[in-house]
Amino acid sequence: MENLITTFPEIEIKEHEPLAHYTNTKTGGPADWLAFPVDVAQVQQLVDYCHQTGLALTVIGNASNLIVRDGGIEGLVMILTRMQTVKVEGTMVTAAAGASYIEVTKIARDHSLTGLEFAAGIPGSIGGAIFMNAGAYGGETKTVVDHVTVMERDGQIHQLSNEEMDFGYRHSAVQASGAIVLDATFALKLGDQNAITAQMENLNARRAAKQPLELPSCGSVFKRPTGYFAGKLIHDAGLQGYTSGGAQVSTKHAGFIVNVNHGTATDYLNVIHHVQETVQEKFGVQLETEVRIIGRQS
Ligand code: FAD
Repeated sequence: MENLITTFPEIEIKEHEPLAHYTNTKTGGPADWLAFPVDVAQVQQLVDYCHQTGLALTVIGNASNLIVRDGGIEGLVMILTRMQTVKVEGTMVTAAAGASYIEVTKIARDHSLTGLEFAAGIPGSIGGAIFMNAGAYGGETKTVVDHVTVMERDGQIHQLSNEEMDFGYRHSAVQASGAIVLDATFALKLGDQNAITAQMENLNARRAAKQPLELPSCGSVFKRPTGYFAGKLIHDAGLQGYTSGGAQVSTKHAGFIVNVNHGTATDYLNVIHHVQETVQEKFGVQLETEVRIIGRQS
């Protein structure tokens, strides 16, 4: 295989880079290559190269909803967190894929724009939030998105309307298409800055009281099964505190799995499997993961 570091001297690329350095769970094996593009032109070069050569390409953002298996990821991984431009035009906010969702909510607040308060504590990038249709406290990304700019795997760039994004519960069109989110434009409304600030602080206080933010995790591991709450099922199954290696079902919030002692992705997967089996056995409910699990088996 070609040496990507010499093929793209102007792009920062690392070889055999442990992804545990980037994931919110602090677990995960190495990427064969990890690239840090800083703008769309660099993303384009890498996407075109992968399209032409057939090299596997994976895109990640803040890695806060991700478990990378201990075997790592084949081919090229692009981490977009260095693409952070945010533009405010009237009530429209356009944020690059790598911008922090939390920072974007603060920028909106600073411009007295309301609509993004729900996301004040979601620790992902804009690209990841669009991909997942991230949501919290009754709000969802889909309700404020005007349009999204994407790059298809063949390098074509185009815009998708809110409707074309086909948002659903933790779902968007790019999950199936593999398109790379380059930026998103949010349609917000003018509001009262004090009220916006108060709401963001209120939601963040509720989050800090309920979630184990002091430990590495990937947020809620399981989707909400119809008619149930994943956390309650896990709690009622007596699974809080269940530990495999260094990964543990949080004693603070049953929906979270925290890394308490140098856990590995395999530890995480073992805990997930045990929780799924136990909840299925006790309550007949199939828990589906919300967290994305990627990479090769070790
Ligand atoms: P990543 O984890 O990097 O990636 C997630 C998926 O998106 C991957 O499949 C990746 O391939 C894909 N992806 C990332 N960027 C792009 C891109 N530019 N183009 C195409 N695909 C891309 N989520 C909620 O919805 N609500 C919450 O309240 C919430 N609270 C959380 C609290 C904590 C403490 C933690 C750790 C996580 C929480 N999450 C929550 C989960 C997570 O923050 C969100 O899902 C977030 O939107 C993921 O963004 P990311 O940049 O970290 O994505």
